[in-house]
Amino acid sequence: MLNKFLALSVPILPKWFVELFSKSYVAGYSSKEVLSIVKELNNKGFSTTIDILGEHVSDLDIAEKITKEYCDLYEKIYQDSIDSNISIKPSHIGLDISEEVVLNNFQKILKKAKEYSNFLRIDMESSKSTDITFKIYNQLKLTYSETGVVLQAYLRRSLKDIESLGSHNFNARICKGIYQENSKVAIKDPEKIRVNFLKMAKLMSEKKSYACYATHDQHLIGALINMIKKHTIDSSTFEFQVLYGVPMNGRLEELLSLGYKVRVYVPYGPDWYDYSLRRLKENPDIAGYVLKNLFSKNS
Ligand SMILES: Cc1cc2nc3c(=O)[nH]c(=O)nc-3n(C[C@H](O)[C@H](O)[C@H](O)COP(=O)(O)OP(=O)(O)OC[C@H]3O[C@@H](n4cnc5c(N)ncnc54)[C@H](O)[C@@H]3O)c2cc1C
Repeated sequence: MLNKFLALSVPILPKWFVELFSKSYVAGYSSKEVLSIVKELNNKGFSTTIDILGEHVSDLDIAEKITKEYCDLYEKIYQDSIDSNISIKPSHIGLDISEEVVLNNFQKILKKAKEYSNFLRIDMESSKSTDITFKIYNQLKLTYSETGVVLQAYLRRSLKDIESLGSHNFNARICKGIYQENSKVAIKDPEKIRVNFLKMAKLMSEKKSYACYATHDQHLIGALINMIKKHTIDSSTFEFQVLYGVPMNGRLEELLSLGYKVRVYVPYGPDWYDYSLRRLKENPDIAGYVLKNLFSKNS
């Protein structure tokens, strides 16, 4: 009941409450804070990917500021010998301004990734930007091959995208997809999305591509493990990925014990508010825990 009520009241929750909640999902506001959290995750056996929160930037100066922050992050990751790459939303560094701006900014960041022998992941946003994101990806790949993209299992086109892009040099995260899409482009039935996710994972393996299985869905993780075992998929050709702070009830440690790589996606930055609201809508259970802790601490 409490959680249902919280889910409905997400849009009007007070900012202080969202901030309390955000502590479990957002790794602080500064690069210093996020680097200390990813170090802890590394010590527990997890790889990480760092993301600066924010999207749909329309101001050129802000897009350039974020670009510089990403460049600096590669340097700090290298200096601190941290096991982390970087994930970036194209609209955060200029996609909404122009194709030229976003490509220029990606090229600057990629130069740093190359300088420090790191990896760059381009996050996937709504289906309006799928084609342009693949175009950018293909262009960046010409500069530095350690670049990857994301495929959304709810999109009807995704298997075809693997057919055309898949090769030993292709690295993609597979996730269900988070944006509101219409049924012309996206599968709506949750079970069919799972089935498509598994088909995509299998096709990635047949294409000898590197696949990142990004999901918290325990059934799907179980099905992926079965698939890996049944087809004896080499553990150097895939990894599991989760978002920082999502409760996984020991599943991540189990994956590590099976010898699989697990990467945690760790977001940080002052733009924590919108991100936290989205997390709250997705999992009101967490809001319930925060509230209970809050009251038990005060009683
Ligand atoms: C590492 C990573 C990177 C991602 N990158 C992208 C991207 O580039 N583009 C994109 O469109 N989407 C991205 N996503 C989001 C993804 O598409 C899904 O929307 C999200 O992961 C929920 O789907 P699920 O597979 O976890 O299954 P679900 O069935 O939605 O969730 C399974 C269970 O996990 C819990 N859960 C799931 N997600 C959350 C959450 N965020 N907060 C709290 N609890 C949660 C819920 O309690 C739910 O019961 C990413 C997800 C991950 C893990």
